[in-house]
Amino acid sequence: MGLWAAVHAARLGIDTVLIDAGELGQGASGGLLGALMPHMPDKWNPKKQFQFDALVSLESEIAALEAETGLSAGYRRSGRLIPLPKPHLRTIALGHSEDAEQHWQAGERRFHWHVLDRPPVSGWLEAADSEGGFVHDTLAARVAPRSLTSVLAAFLRKAMHVRIMENVALESLDPDAGRARTSAGTILFDRCIIAAGHQSFPLLGEQTSGLAKPLGQAVKGQAALLKADVDPDLPTIFRDGLYVVAHEGEHVAIGSTSENRFDEPFSTDAQLDALLDAARALVPSLRDAPVIERWAGLRPKAIDRDPMLGRHPEHERLIALTGGFKVSFGLAHRLAQAAVLIAAGDEVPFELPDSFLLSGHIRVASR
Ligand SMILES: Cc1cc2nc3c(=O)[nH]c(=O)nc-3n(C[C@H](O)[C@H](O)[C@H](O)COP(=O)(O)OP(=O)(O)OC[C@H]3O[C@@H](n4cnc5c(N)ncnc54)[C@H](O)[C@@H]3O)c2cc1C
Repeated sequence: MGLWAAVHAARLGIDTVLIDAGELGQGASGGLLGALMPHMPDKWNPKKQFQFDALVSLESEIAALEAETGLSAGYRRSGRLIPLPKPHLRTIALGHSEDAEQHWQAGERRFHWHVLDRPPVSGWLEAADSEGGFVHDTLAARVAPRSLTSVLAAFLRKAMHVRIMENVALESLDPDAGRARTSAGTILFDRCIIAAGHQSFPLLGEQTSGLAKPLGQAVKGQAALLKADVDPDLPTIFRDGLYVVAHEGEHVAIGSTSENRFDEPFSTDAQLDALLDAARALVPSLRDAPVIERWAGLRPKAIDRDPMLGRHPEHERLIALTGGFKVSFGLAHRLAQAAVLIAAGDEVPFELPDSFLLSGHIRVASR
């Protein structure tokens, strides 16, 4: 989120200091999966429209950065496959298919929620346990998280107007005076965007009066990377919270657990083994694929679950940009663009769902 914000600020020629307590891209965004999954196409609302527009526009945003840096972000609109274990789910899926025809339109481009008897490719998803058939969604995409953060970082390292300070932690803020105390000294600012992942919640909470609860929490996730000689164009498989994502370089990512309580934030355990077993049962070609990495990270989940964006109601100079929870990768570029425009006092040229606004999250945490 912060990297995208710095990209947008750089494009506007705004003098920017990007500080990171670690190295760029090593937080929750330094993971393995990078699934870009649309919301369901039914019950359409501003939040779904925002995500749809973001998922469509990400493709050209990434292409532009790739052209500027000469690096690949490992992006592909490879779609998604969802097995339907029961016949009645097929009826529901057919309804969603009509919803997608109506709502998944961007100019001339159309995206679909096909309902199929068989998977569109063989040897990838096991056909057993899918009495209702399969959904093949053509809007879903994926990106390689570490490749994307490397592209963003490479762009920023060359950008005029951007100064990067790594291994520098924000310690305290006096937003009204425009003063940030960091582990490397004091920084004076005109506007400050807090995009510190789950650590944004206490940082913003300290600046907020009347809170009865924290503004959000960290939700741990575990994932794994397998080495497998599969086509990187294969669609992402999704079933009951399990994702199987084919990437370039003979890599397949498996994820993710969702843990509200945990003792060790960055270690993996038997919960990941169970996911790996489930993935191997679903995808025969992964049965013997070796695990080359196990990884865990902390997602930022805002109190009202949606992303948390916007000017702080008590501090004009302070802007929140966090709470992407499980869908940050598909939204970050748009949320960050909005955050930078808000910081600059410019109009945001697209609608921001009310449920994203920091002020709304603060209301919920104040009850
Ligand atoms: C296992 C797993 C699988 C996931 N899969 C997907 C997926 O498939 N698709 C998807 O869209 N999302 C997925 N997510 C969620 C996604 O990774 C996160 O929502 C996203 O990375 C959050 O990005 P962020 O920029 O808000 O936070 P982060 O990437 O955590 O970045 C926050 C940055 O702030 C810095 N920071 C923190 N505190 C301070 C401080 N005091 N001073 C200075 N710097 C500070 C950190 O060092 C870090 O670099 C997954 C998450 C997990 C854990």
